[in-house]
Amino acid sequence: MRNSSKGSLFIVSAPSGAGKTTLCKELCSKIPNLKHSVSYTTRKPRQGEVNGRDYTFVDEAEFQRMIDRGEFAEWAVVHGNFYGTSRKRLDEMLQRGIDVILDIDVQGAKKIKEVYGDAVCIFIMPPSMDVLKERLKNRKTDPDEVIKSRLDHAIEEIREYKWYNYVIVNNVFEEALRELEAVVTARRLCVDKIDPLWVEKNFLIQGDG
Ligand code: 5GP
Repeated sequence: MRNSSKGSLFIVSAPSGAGKTTLCKELCSKIPNLKHSVSYTTRKPRQGEVNGRDYTFVDEAEFQRMIDRGEFAEWAVVHGNFYGTSRKRLDEMLQRGIDVILDIDVQGAKKIKEVYGDAVCIFIMPPSMDVLKERLKNRKTDPDEVIKSRLDHAIEEIREYKWYNYVIVNNVFEEALRELEAVVTARRLCVDKIDPLWVEKNFLIQGDG
């Protein structure tokens, strides 16, 4: 194996409705050895969401117990609900050499970056604010006041784009996906990800011939 044993961490943030979750899921099904880390949330499941696949859905009391036990690598309140990344789930995957993609908000991204300094941070922009507004309305899963709060929050999040390593505009889905894939590929080719023993064995030890 050319890559060192520990997995790489990718953090993807975007305003809600920018299509980040679909992008991340598609990317994970396309690229081998890349997995999405399933977060915990106190939000109620939306139609079609599956417990343990999209999120692990818990109540506030359980979430609070997990905070108290220090089980989260980061947690945040987003649109009035709690969301958190399990430290154990994340570390286990990275230790097993799996590359992990975290689909989390800006606050969470900053907290993770403090602990996992070499994480690659990617910000997804919607095609335009008008499109974002339409997408949020068409989802029909959230009441009007939630849509309004998501839009206000979107602007606050977009202000933070400079803090990320890469910016991708999700205008044409296939293009955005290709760009996201390129970021993952580039990270995998970084010199600090290459296993020195692999170089030694394959290129530096002279054979008999
Ligand atoms: P949604 O409820 O639409 O699935 O997600 C709302 C927001 O919460 C999104 O910006 C999503 O990225 C973020 N989010 C999902 N999981 C986590 C998490 O574990 N930690 C943090 N900080 N944000 C999360």
